[in-house]
Formats: sequence, structure tokens, C-alpha cells
Amino acid sequence: MWRWGGRRGLRAVHGLHGGRAHHKVWRWKSDQVCERALQYKVGEKIHGFTINQVTSVPELFLTAVKLSHDNTGARYLHLAREDKNNLFSVQFRTTPMDSTGVPHVLEHTVLCGSQKYPCRDPFFKMLNRSLSTFMNAFTASDYTMYPFSTQNAKDFQNLLSVYLDATFFPCLRELDFWQEGWRLEHENPSDPQTPLIFKGVVFNEMKGAFTDNERIFSQKLQNKLLPDHTYSVVSGGDPLCIPELTWEQLKQFHATHYHPSNARFFTYGNFHLEQHLKQIHEEALSKFQKIEQSTAVPAQKPWDKPREFHITCGPDSLAADASKQTTVSISFLLPEITNTSEAFTLNLLSSLLISGPNSPFYKVLIESGLGTDFSPDVGYNGYTREAYFSVGLQGIAEKDVQIVKELIDRTIDDVIEKGFEDDRIEALLHKIEIQMKHQSTSFGLALTSYIASCWNHDGDPVKLLQIGNQLNKFRKCLKENPKFLQEKVEQYFKNNQHKLTLSMKPDNKYYEKQTQMETEKLKQKVSSLSQEDKWQIYEKGLELRAQQSKPQDASCLPALKVSDIEPTMPFTKFDIALAAGDVPVQYCAQPTNGMVYFRTFSSLNTLPEELRPYVPLFCSVLTKLGCGILDYREQAQQIELKTGGMTVSPYVLPDESHLDTYEQGVLFSSLCLERNLPDMMHLWTEIFNNPCFEEEEHFKVLVKMAAQELSNGIPDSGHLYAAFRASKTLTPAGDLQETFSGMDQVRLMKRIAEMTDIKPILRKLPRIKKYLLNCDNMRCSVNATPQQMTQAEKEVENFLRNVGRSKKERKPVRPHIVEKPAHGDSAGSAHVNGCQIIRKLVIDPTFKPCQMKTHFLLPFPVNYVGECVRTVPYADPDHASLKILARLMSAKFLHAEIREKGGAYGGGAKLSHNGIFTLYSYRDPNSVETLQSFGKAIDWAKSGKFTEQDIDEAKLSVFSAIDAPVAPSDKGMDHFLYGLSDEMKQAYREQLFAVSHDKLTTVSNKYLGIGKSTHGLAILGPENAKIAKDPSWIVR
Ligand SMILES: [Zn+2]
Repeated sequence: MWRWGGRRGLRAVHGLHGGRAHHKVWRWKSDQVCERALQYKVGEKIHGFTINQVTSVPELFLTAVKLSHDNTGARYLHLAREDKNNLFSVQFRTTPMDSTGVPHVLEHTVLCGSQKYPCRDPFFKMLNRSLSTFMNAFTASDYTMYPFSTQNAKDFQNLLSVYLDATFFPCLRELDFWQEGWRLEHENPSDPQTPLIFKGVVFNEMKGAFTDNERIFSQKLQNKLLPDHTYSVVSGGDPLCIPELTWEQLKQFHATHYHPSNARFFTYGNFHLEQHLKQIHEEALSKFQKIEQSTAVPAQKPWDKPREFHITCGPDSLAADASKQTTVSISFLLPEITNTSEAFTLNLLSSLLISGPNSPFYKVLIESGLGTDFSPDVGYNGYTREAYFSVGLQGIAEKDVQIVKELIDRTIDDVIEKGFEDDRIEALLHKIEIQMKHQSTSFGLALTSYIASCWNHDGDPVKLLQIGNQLNKFRKCLKENPKFLQEKVEQYFKNNQHKLTLSMKPDNKYYEKQTQMETEKLKQKVSSLSQEDKWQIYEKGLELRAQQSKPQDASCLPALKVSDIEPTMPFTKFDIALAAGDVPVQYCAQPTNGMVYFRTFSSLNTLPEELRPYVPLFCSVLTKLGCGILDYREQAQQIELKTGGMTVSPYVLPDESHLDTYEQGVLFSSLCLERNLPDMMHLWTEIFNNPCFEEEEHFKVLVKMAAQELSNGIPDSGHLYAAFRASKTLTPAGDLQETFSGMDQVRLMKRIAEMTDIKPILRKLPRIKKYLLNCDNMRCSVNATPQQMTQAEKEVENFLRNVGRSKKERKPVRPHIVEKPAHGDSAGSAHVNGCQIIRKLVIDPTFKPCQMKTHFLLPFPVNYVGECVRTVPYADPDHASLKILARLMSAKFLHAEIREKGGAYGGGAKLSHNGIFTLYSYRDPNSVETLQSFGKAIDWAKSGKFTEQDIDEAKLSVFSAIDAPVAPSDKGMDHFLYGLSDEMKQAYREQLFAVSHDKLTTVSNKYLGIGKSTHGLAILGPENAKIAKDPSWIVR
């Protein structure tokens, strides 16, 4: 995978959250794991390593131990924390000097087999032999990282062994390079008469990646702003340069970069450090001697005057108003990220400048109405040796570029003069407090991503973790000098000559030109081939195909057994009580570090049909338009100051026992520090009772941003859109899901964003409010510490009494509604007082599933293909068999067929809770051929050509997802939303264990074959002659 640092990394930092459901968490002093780690002495030698530093980091509930490896100089950081979800990562500084994508191709190729584990593709195979909670590899601009996490100690050792061998002793076979990197091959490898074309996983992945205009912009921004060294090239690979890479160069790059002297090891969690050190030393590091590494990135020479560049991109994927598709941004070079306190200050300063409707750049740029949203990578970017700040707009008219530039300059002057309001600074510091307390389930992963860049440039990762120190220092600076921040703005933005203006506009011939350049490159390659070369290419193509089709022996790999899986799952306790008369409230006591999580679900059953398509829009703007006496700016300020976020989203919830039954509603979710609960509940009361729908201008701004975000998301989520569409006609819920989240919704939003008069849409919002924002059909949930529950109960009661009911009784729009109690739990205490959650489900007894095939035309050079099959609901015993079957088909058939042979970035099968079985491909050069592969996969499943070992592997893989850790904030949600009890989940668990070869072939035959169940098909992608000729396809 190629990670565009700027985007994912940012999320990682923002996701700096805590991590585990254990009763010790809020009593950090009694924490044994941290205490034990504090016993290490500086200078102590353990298994070839020396301890350099031991630091307690109480704000993150951990102890940091820094070590170095004596013989090789490898660096090591261990974070001891009372968290079962242990993580390992190794990162190498990879600083390429060309755009052949060598670090990216290497990242893929090392995972194709190693000395101790020579079987093909051990990485993908381990996905099925482990209970890992995360396994991946990323190529960033200047490092490559291999992380995994698991809760099982034996599994940790197994995975560590495979990761060490892969990175330090990979086979790097020529055929692996061909498969993963690039190759020339006949379009049909077995027919030498078909033309030679470029193939390869990375080649196609990068072609797909650059259909995303935001990525093109981000990539160019970094290339142009830091032009002197590694940041001037594309680490992931430019599709036109990738074919210059040779196998020799790849091996050379490995020898110089994947050496312990250039490596940083990271471990996190509650497992013993000594065990990790021993294994890493014995299996890898003891076999190396120190080398002088030359991978460092030199400082970027500052410019003496600003620079300006223009680039082009493909047209908007939905071909909207062509006159407003230009992007422009201004970026400034900032100090090195290893200067942690300056980086902390500038990061905060950037948030003050651009986040939320009260920030100066939001007011001036977003509210100018000139564009649809900020330009990509807006704000602070700390993923390169020197950080940078960027600000600008996308979706503007070309003629407005100059105006935007002037507005940016003027805003900087304005901020230097006026500074920031104290309240906004407080709100930001409050946000950091919440980020430290809120616990996610992947805390180790968030931490390793958070420190990766700074550590990569030899900064101190421990200093970076000591957020408390940085906060204190920041507050002190601010106190001593009230103009502290203004002076920074002047220094880094006003008086900074290292300033880049980058603009990008679409070119309707962009993809055509790209294709043409690719064709030329191909011609040039092919014309230099001798007859002999061509023969070899043909032979190698056959060899690769033969190897891909060969039955594989993975017995060299370590594996957990099905017997290593916990036979029973832990049950979650909660109480249910009625509030305000008859509203059920679920209370789940959890170690939440002093956070309170409040949710409420309100039914959409009475909402008139014609308003349904506007529900997602209603949800996305409801907490952003103002309420009561607060205008939208004041409201945003209060939300930031008092809560960790208040969000609203539409939901279509399946029923566990009938496919034609579902629940429709809206979920309101929020979190806050305990001390702020009354304020947060007051905000909800005002939002429910007095939401403001008058601010037409601001509404327009929000609509444009939402529409832009949806259309920018298509390249990343195309497979989901294809699946929503393909299942639209299979169940009544599928139709609603498509309305809420599918391509129909994307197009509707685009249309609204382009309306000159938006009033008719705005007027729909108060109408939706009438049906939704009352407690007629509502249920609530609270997750908090046990000590906080009494207070929470009082607040919820208050809220419900204030919200009240609708004045007149409203009838459900659909005639058939059934009331269904959520399944209780004898182990929990749900029935002590006889209270239950009652769900009001919609039934459609006349519904007939039918087949539909849709092709959405998009100007991308890749496809997203989805085929959906209507099967059975969750409570049907066949559901468990189909669940295992989907995993089995992905791992044992579709992966080879669609990724390895077909060259798609990904592909597989999955079974959802709602009973829809989906086959899909992601960034796929093929479309019709992929549908044929789906058919072959089904035939393969029916034939039963898989072993007991294959089935066990599929079970492990399914259980690693089912047993993934759940954050304290999310405990009990399966009951609250889906009405599932832990007993039902345990029964399902037992069905999964019991799945046999027989059951798998039975369900394959019973549901998947043509004529057995209804199928739906959808493709997103470029024009396609075969589909155009076939009248059974709807082309849109
Ligand atoms: Zn990749």
C-alpha cells in the first residue's frame, strides 16, 4: 500500500486515543505493566540491546523504554501499557531519488516470500493463520513501515517471525518483481498473438491512486515545495516511470535500506519486552554488522523568493460545472519536525487558522462562496523533514485564483494585527485533553503513526509523547507573551520567502493524454525487444501464470489452530431503564477514563417518502446551522469547548431474522468530559427543540462541502458504491441504503450544490425536523464510568422531558410495522426491572427481489465491480457457513484470480450482517472478465475443492475480526442498535466453529449458483464496449 502521509497520517494524529477495556485503566497507579517497565535501568544490557532511557508518560498511561542494538545500531522504542492489543512495527528510512516507485515495489515484494518462509505470499497467508487485529505495510514519502497487532502472545511471536524474515531476508524473486512491480505481458498470456501490455500490482495501484485529483494535488505540492531531494519524487511510483525500474535496482535498494542500522523497531502493549528483544536479536539482528547508512534527508535550502506552478488533472468524476473546478493553494515551509515544541505550537496555530467556522480562513475563504471546500492538505503537514502549512480553495473559477491569493495574504495580515480569541485557544486545548482520554481500540497503531516521521529524522519520539510538557510550555509562552501566536504568524507566514502558489485545473483530455503517454512508453519498450526477448516474455508470462495457478504449500508458516480461539466470548453488562415515562435508556458502565458517551436513536417511520432522500443532508447540517440563541459560529464554539463532537447519521438496520424487515432511523452520537455533561445535554436539547434553518448562505457552504467530499471519496470507496447499487433491488433495506449512501445520494448532493436557488431544499429541513426530533420513537444509550451513572441518568431524564413529544399523533408511512423487543440477556441485568428496548421494524410483505445490472460511467482508467447475492439473515444457521465461505473464497480463490492474475489492487467476497453476500473488486483493470471470475469462484466453491486446513484458516480469519477489541465507548452497541444479545452472538459463534466441508458446499449450491438466489450487479468505471452492447445493462 502506498500511504499518502498528508492524509492518513493526519487522521492518525487526530486519532491519538487511548485503548483498552479493563477495569484497571482509570487507576493508573496500580498499573503493573507500567510499573514493571519502570524497573529497567539505563545502561542495562538485554539480549544484545542496551537500555538508553526509561520515562513515565502518565498522560498516556504508559512507560517508554528506549534502547539501541549494540552490534548494528538499530533503534528500539517500547511503550509498556496495560493494553492487550499489542503492536509491533519496524520502519526503514527509504529515501528514493527517482519516481520508479522502488520503495513501494520493494514493500510489496518483500511480502512475497523469505528464506525461512519461502512459500508464495506469506503475508497474505498469515492473514488466515493468525488472530491479528491489524496487519499491513505502508510506503510513505521517506519511510516504509510494517506494523501488526494481536491480543494473543503466541500469535505475536508467529507474526514477528514472519515480519522479521520478510523484511531482512526476503527472496525478492524475479517473478515476484514481475507480479508486484511491472511487466510486459500479452493481454491474454496464453495467446502470443494478443498485444503486449503493461501489468503489475503497483503499476495498476498507482494508476488508480492518481485518478484521485486530491492526491495529484498533494503529491505535486510536496514535490514542488521541497524540490531539492527525495521529496521531489513520487515514492509510490509514477505509472510512467515505474517501467524504468529493474530487478537489480530493487535488490540494491533493499541491501542499502532494509538494514538494521537503518531500522527503527517499535513495540507496544502488555507483553514482556525481554521476549521481543530476544526474538528480534536471535532471528534477525545477530546476523548483521553495523553499516554506515546514507539515507538521511538533507535540510531543504530556503528560497529567496516565492514560486508559482500550474498543473492539470482529470475532470471531476461527476462532470459537474466545468467552469468551477480549479484548485489553488499557498504553502509555506516551516521548521524541522524534530523541533518538537515548535512543531506543537505550529500545529495548534494551524488549527486555529483553519478549523471550524470561527477560524479566520474559514470565514474568509469558505464563506466567500468562491469555492466548494479547502484545497487538499490544508493546515499543518508534519510528515516531511521540514513541516509545511498550506491553505487554499478547490472548486473555484479559474478567474478567481488571484482573488483567493489576495484573500489569503489579507487574512494573514489581519491575524497578525488581531490575534485569536481566548475561547478558541481554550477549545483547542480542551480537544487535546479529550484526545488523550478517549480510548480507541488501535492505540498502539495510532502511536506508531504519530511518532514515525519525527523519529525517522532522528527526533526524540519520547519527547513527542509527553504532550503534557508541551501543553505546559505552550501555556507558559502564551502567558508571558500575549502576542506569542501573532509573532509566529508574522515570522512563518508573512516574512517567509519559501512560499509556493500551486494551482490545478482540469483538462478534459487529461486521461486521454495519460493513456497516450502510456501507449508511447509501451511502444518504446516493445520496439526495443528482439524476437528472442519477445519469446522470453511469452514464456515468463506462462511461467508466472503457472506459478499463480499451482496449489500452494504454506506448511512452512507458523499458524494458530482453531483450538487457540476462545470458545466463549466475554459478555457485556448493561442496565435498561425507562426515562420520561417510556423511553428506554441503556446504561453500560465502562472504564472510560472520565469520558461520557451519549447516543440516541430516533425512528424515521413516520417520515413522508418524498423527504427520505434529504435525510442524509439534514443529518450532516443539523449540528452546524445554529440552535436556540446561538448562531452557527457560537454553536460551533460551544461544541468545541464542551464536547468531543456531536454527530448525526442516518441508519438502515437489518433485522436478524427476516431479510424483508428492517429498522430505519437516525443516530445522534456525542462524547464529553464528565464535567461537561450538563452543557452537552443542554446543547442537544436546543438542537432538538430550536434548530435554526434560516442561514441560507451558510447552508449553501455546507452543502457544497458535503457534495465535494462525496465526489472526492469515489476513487477510495468505489467498491462500496458498487455494492450498494448491486444490492439495491435485493431487499427493501437495500433500496433505502442506496438512497442514503449510494451513487444516487452522491448525484443528488451534486445537483443540490449546483442549484442557484437553494431555498426549496432548505425548506425541507424543518419538515424533516417535525417527524424526527421528538421522543415519540426513541431510545438512548450512555457509556460512562459506574460513578457517573446517577448523574447521567438525571441528565438524560431532563433532556427527554425537555424534548417532549409531537403535538399530534403521527401514523407510520409504511402500512406494515412490527414491534420487536431487542433480545435480552440473562447474564446481563437487562430484565431486573422488566424494561426492554422495543424496535419498530418496517416489513414489506409484497417485496419481490429482482435482478438489476448497472454501469455507472466514470472517467477513471480503473473499475470497481460488485456482485451481490440475497442469502439469509443473521439468525439462520446458514449465515455462519456463508460467512466462512466468503472468507474462504477470498483467500483461496479470488485473491489469486483478481489480484495476482487480474492485476486489480484488491478483490474478495464478504457476507454482511444483513444477509447480502458480496463479491467485489477494487481498482480493477478488468470489468466483464472480473464478473466471469466471480462465476468461477462460485463454481469452485460448489465443487468443494478445498481442504480442512483451508476451512480452519478461514475460521481463524473470521474470528480475528469477530474478536477484535471493542472500545469502552462502543460496548453494548450490538444490543442497542441491532437488538442482538450476547447469547445470540455466542450461539452464532458456536455455529461458526461447527462449519464443515459439507455445510460449505451445501450453502454454495443452495444460495450462490445461478437461478438459486437473486443477484445484482454493478460496475463503476470507464466506457465499456461489451457492456454497451448488452441490453441487460443499465448505463448511467
Ligand atoms: Zn501498494
